[in-house]
Formats: sequence, C-alpha cells, structure tokens
Amino acid sequence: MIILLGAPGAGKGTQASYLSRVKSIPKISTGDMLRSAVQEDSDLGRKVKEIMNDGGLVDDETMLNLVQVRISKPDCERGFVLDGYPRNIHQAQQFETVLKPNMKLRVVEIEVSEDEIVKRVAGRRTCPSCQRIYNIHFQPPAKDETCDFDGSKLFARQDDREKVVRRRLATYRKETRPLLNYYGERGLLRIVNGVQPVEEVARQISERIE
Ligand code: ADP
Ligand code: AMP
Repeated sequence: MIILLGAPGAGKGTQASYLSRVKSIPKISTGDMLRSAVQEDSDLGRKVKEIMNDGGLVDDETMLNLVQVRISKPDCERGFVLDGYPRNIHQAQQFETVLKPNMKLRVVEIEVSEDEIVKRVAGRRTCPSCQRIYNIHFQPPAKDETCDFDGSKLFARQDDREKVVRRRLATYRKETRPLLNYYGERGLLRIVNGVQPVEEVARQISERIE
C-alpha cells in the first residue's frame, strides 16, 4: 500500500499511474473520483464542486467514505497506490482504522519547489476519458491537445487557474504538509526529488519502496 504525498502538481498522479502499471495494483486518485462526480452532476458532485473550485478540502467523512468503498473492492486486495489521500492528519488517522492490519504502509513524498509547481500546473492537461496526464511544455501529447491513447480532446482543470493554484498551495501548506512529520516520526516516510525526468522520479520511488 503506497501513499504518494506532495504539493498539487508535484507529479503524484503521473507517478501513481506508473506504479499502478508496473506493480499491477490500482491507482486510487481521490481528485479524479471527485472530478468524475462533478462531471456526472451527482449529489456528491454538487456538494464538492464549489469547494474544489475554491481550492479547499472536502470534509473528512465524505472522503473516508469514498476511499473505504473503493478499497473494499476485490482489485485492492493485493495493495493499491493512493494519490491525493490522506490530505490532513485526521484523514490519516481515520484511514488507519479501515486499513487491514496485514497491509504494509509505504509513504513517499515527491518534493518540488513552489515556482516549479506553478509552471507545471499551468501546462497540465488531462484526458477526460482515461484520466491520463500531460503537460503542454514537459510531456506534450503527440498531436495537439488530444490524448495519445484514445484521441479525446484534453482539458485544463478549472482549479489549475493561477489564483486557485495559490489557494491550493496554501491549503497544502496548512493541512497536508504536517503529514510529513506524522509519517516521518514513525519512520515511514521516503523523500524523492520530483524535479527530474518522470522516468528518473519513477526509478527512485521504486528504489525507495522496495
Ligand atoms: P499531481 O497529481 O501531484 O497534482 P500531476 O501528476 O498531475 O501532479 O503532474 C502535474 C503536471 O506536471 C502535469 O502536467 C504533468 O504532466 C507534469 N509533470 C509530472 N511529473 C513531471 C516531471 N517529473 N517533470 C516535468 N513535468 C512533470
Ligand atoms: P487533486 O486532483 O488531488 O489535486 O484534488 C483536487 C481537489 O479535490 C482538491 O483541491 C480538493 O478540493 C479535493 N480533494 C481531493 N482529495 C481530497 C482529500 N483527500 N480530502 C479533501 N479534499 C480532496
């Protein structure tokens, strides 16, 4: 069971997809799950839309429920990689109460400076069908703004506008960064420099969690 930590835009989703592929375990991205709910205009989607567009955090009970339902599915029995959860200490504590005792926890922080984050997020594009992540500067698709795998038109996330990104970074500093100490003090945290080519970050994460 792998938890990826890092500021918004650090590369958690990119690395979670890679780990999911090489380890044949599911990637669980709470951000993707919430964005799908918003797109479907479900009760959950209507509840969280504004919070997400403001750069805040959805409440802990809603998130626990979402994650608990997902990890109880059979494909999670052999482990899974979490991208975007937990996001504060209370979520981390709640999560431990629903985790099977035999599941070994590994936590990796992808470390990236805030200047780099703002550049990355401004260029992020996502496939609406398969959720693959691109970057118009650093990881462009082969053909302008369309997904290499299914040809869908890529979109820029609403919450990637600079003003919202600043708010998301503030939320990260206040709510999520304390998790580094929380896991660090228990000897569970590994740190990887995220300002390197995607393949090198992936190689170092794999090395740290073996
Ligand atoms: P997060 O899930 O942490 O918010 P993403 O995986 O969505 O981050 O990555 C944010 C943006 O940065 C995306 O556009 C992605 O293509 C790009 N990116 C991810 N890893 C790297 C990297 N090592 N170098 C340059 N750009 C990257
Ligand atoms: P992400 O795709 O991880 O950047 O998440 C996008 C947005 O979804 C965040 O800015 C939050 O509003 C919301 N979100 C995702 N995961 C969580 C979580 N674990 N707790 C609270 N809110 C979350």
